[in-house]
Amino acid sequence: MQPFTYVRADSLDAALSEASQPGAAIMAGGTTMVDLMRGNLAAPSRLVDIGHLPGLSEIDTTGPVLRFGALARMADVAEDATLLRDYPALSESLRLAASQQLRNAATLGGNILQRTRCQYFRDGISNCNKRVPGSGCSALDGENREMGLLGTSDQCVATYPGDWGAALAAFDTSVELRSVGGSRTVPFAQFHLPYGDDPAHESVVQPGEIVTAITVQAMPAGRKSTYVKVRDRQSYAYAVVSATVALEMDGDTVTSARVSLGGVASKPWRAPEAEAVLTGRTLTEAVALEAGAAAFAAARPLHHNAFKIELGRRAVARAALLASKRT
Ligand SMILES: Cc1cc2nc3c(=O)[nH]c(=O)nc-3n(C[C@H](O)[C@H](O)[C@H](O)COP(=O)(O)OP(=O)(O)OC[C@H]3O[C@@H](n4cnc5c(N)ncnc54)[C@H](O)[C@@H]3O)c2cc1C
Repeated sequence: MQPFTYVRADSLDAALSEASQPGAAIMAGGTTMVDLMRGNLAAPSRLVDIGHLPGLSEIDTTGPVLRFGALARMADVAEDATLLRDYPALSESLRLAASQQLRNAATLGGNILQRTRCQYFRDGISNCNKRVPGSGCSALDGENREMGLLGTSDQCVATYPGDWGAALAAFDTSVELRSVGGSRTVPFAQFHLPYGDDPAHESVVQPGEIVTAITVQAMPAGRKSTYVKVRDRQSYAYAVVSATVALEMDGDTVTSARVSLGGVASKPWRAPEAEAVLTGRTLTEAVALEAGAAAFAAARPLHHNAFKIELGRRAVARAALLASKRT
């Protein structure tokens, strides 16, 4: 690990000023950042610890806009009673992530900015366009069982790993950012960048910017929502595939549908093709599976990960059927 200066900010203004220095990086809970620094995947000369800043941990899940401070801990948000009742998919995506100890330390802002778990990125030696632009991608012809098949490019096939982000993609979500120059709000659909030719840049966050809050527009479909996570182990494992479905229904008929995917794409992935299949239909198992197939119609499988298409189809179908039974 490269030597660095540790700065513990005691106000947002102080943090913004520190973060604007050349070579500075932000740390919140540190559960990803410290790993990245240990592996020389991040080498800031100045580490600005914002984890204990006042005023950025509040959450409000009762109004027309749900508001989550960027420093709210995953564990606290997962247990919020209103979220559990009105937006179970959001709550479940947090409860099924990482471990209780990690969720106690990790923040929502850090969660949406976590980096891929691709082993070729993390090992520090393989060819990786994300780590060393222009060096190639060892995953393309390597062990690519865990890689993505939606939104990937010839430069990078790594997946976005987060559960909360995968679920947020099904909702009308925005991210609030601050810098010494001012503030801005970015729709979540534009927050993570498509890989294209430049997989090294994963989000719109600029040096010196701090995520201050995540907001979600309230919607009735939240109550009929669920997050289905399929993983290799029953706990403490990233999603091989995940599906979020939120429905509004009139009897057995779906009047509106939101569908998003995790573990299969370069970024939190909304699946409008699946939503179109569900909307206006009587929800049966066959329709749910048809929606799942539509979600993966554009998939580009690699040598070892084509199984994710069928697994993902079934995960979407299961999520849709489970969501429809919620009252
Ligand atoms: C063993 C292990 C298992 C895990 N399993 C899962 C899992 O199953 N599902 C899942 O979703 N996640 C999982 N995680 C990831 C975990 O959820 C993230 O590490 C955590 O959410 C990151 O939050 P943090 O506050 O610790 O971020 P940090 O580590 O402090 O920061 C992460 C990144 O975000 C940046 N950052 C943080 N906060 C801000 C901010 N407010 N503004 C601007 N930039 C910011 C940092 O600069 C850094 O680049 C796992 C992690 C570990 C170590």
